[in-house]
Amino acid sequence: MAEWKTHARFPGPIVMVGFGSIGRGTLPLILRHIDAPRERMVVIDPDDSGRWIAEKEGIRFRKLALTRENLRSELEPLLGRGGFLVNLSVEVSSVALIELCRQWNALYLDTCIEPWPGGYTDPSLSMSQRSNYALRESARALRRPGHDDPTALIAHGANPGMVSHFVKQALVNLAEALGKDTTAPTTQEGWARLARDLGVKGIHIAERDTQRSDRPKEQGEFVNTWSIEGFLSEGMQPAELGFGTHEKALPPEGRRHEFGCDAAIYLTRPGCATRVRTWVPTAGPQIGWLITHNESISIADYLTLREGGKVVYRPTCHYAYHPCDDTVLSLHEFQGRAFERQPRTRLMNDEIVEGIDELGVLLYGHARNAYWFGSQLSIAEARRLAPYQNATGLQVTSAVLAGMVWTIENPRSGVVDADEIDWRRCLEVQLPYLGPVVGAYTSWTPLTGRPGLFPEDVDLEDPWQFRNVIVR
Ligand code: NAD
Repeated sequence: MAEWKTHARFPGPIVMVGFGSIGRGTLPLILRHIDAPRERMVVIDPDDSGRWIAEKEGIRFRKLALTRENLRSELEPLLGRGGFLVNLSVEVSSVALIELCRQWNALYLDTCIEPWPGGYTDPSLSMSQRSNYALRESARALRRPGHDDPTALIAHGANPGMVSHFVKQALVNLAEALGKDTTAPTTQEGWARLARDLGVKGIHIAERDTQRSDRPKEQGEFVNTWSIEGFLSEGMQPAELGFGTHEKALPPEGRRHEFGCDAAIYLTRPGCATRVRTWVPTAGPQIGWLITHNESISIADYLTLREGGKVVYRPTCHYAYHPCDDTVLSLHEFQGRAFERQPRTRLMNDEIVEGIDELGVLLYGHARNAYWFGSQLSIAEARRLAPYQNATGLQVTSAVLAGMVWTIENPRSGVVDADEIDWRRCLEVQLPYLGPVVGAYTSWTPLTGRPGLFPEDVDLEDPWQFRNVIVR
């Protein structure tokens, strides 16, 4: 057996809530790289189809659905004082868990700021209230500067999460390519200034999943390489984007929120029906979906530069996700059914025969036009590296591992975003699991080949206006 590097030691109990695709993949990485007593670990999930994995790894499994009513009574005896709660569930409120962890002096990490059931689709809530912007504001409202609170690292998976570290590495790489000072900034303002000085107008989280199975999607089936529940929930939230200072006009369906940091806007349409033009190295130009994500807001917020209290710079930032081909077909069918879920779902895993998940950040609008930096992890390599997951999963689970290591090493930081933590340390822990991590420049812009044979409403003066990026 290979010798795995121990990155951290943690003597307290580790409680994992949610044992779906991400939980199952994360557990073996924790056992490999964090020295913690197995007998103090427990996994909680109402669905016990993964029980055999936990038990094979020697970890206790509890079949249980956490609810508003039982959260405190069920978790307190398991977590004790000074434990670590790793929330990899759907439908358990992140904010409620963070508040309890604070009372119990326990560390906390999640990969998505989850609401209680219905939070994404409750028709009595306004679009603004159903947004990731609102969820992020609710988690950030728990920040208490000056209090010695236990660390709660929010939204630290691949994206949101790892991609915030990619943005920093990409900015340093771009500085080098442009012959500028390559010293990495150490403050929020320093990073914002660097992005501004490099001329970065915006950032796509540009992803192409080419994983393919030997079992094609069937009619009436939704197929995906990660949580179908999670994907459809975020797909039915309004599309959201960090809205940059270079944008000349709000999109016609764009709205501002009436509260919070104001780094992002939402569109009055769901992300799963909103397509954008983007670019990744293997496919080149492609259409992706503008699914709302926490990082669209947190990166834009973090890279905001203020002078005299006034915003002078902010990049546009959003997700541009081309899921695997069978998921594209699933989305098409889902939209055709007026957003009523297909009767059957299938998480692709063992049946995948080939493909990669190419996930990175595309920094655009600068003197070298556009630069993509990210991971190109194949299914074959993912299977060699770690059990119970595909390439998409390993990009996320290795980010959870990196986030846990950072949290253990920095236990008194209160509620923090991925953008605020040690990006180099996280990438150091994660890199062995990411396959080729590459940078690539491109001369492509959203105006390449346009207008073609038909009239189009485009801004010919600035290719990087969001108006040119969105597919109308
Ligand atoms: P999944 O649907 O495969 O697993 C979620 C698990 O939560 C399921 O096993 C489900 O039974 C369990 N669960 C549901 N209700 C529960 C309750 N009341 N109490 C305890 N457990 C409950 O999802 P996944 O792919 O493992 O994703 C898990 C989370 O991670 C989701 O919130 C998803 O959005 C997020 N995610 C983040 C990233 C990222 O890169 N940041 C990537 C993938 C997934």
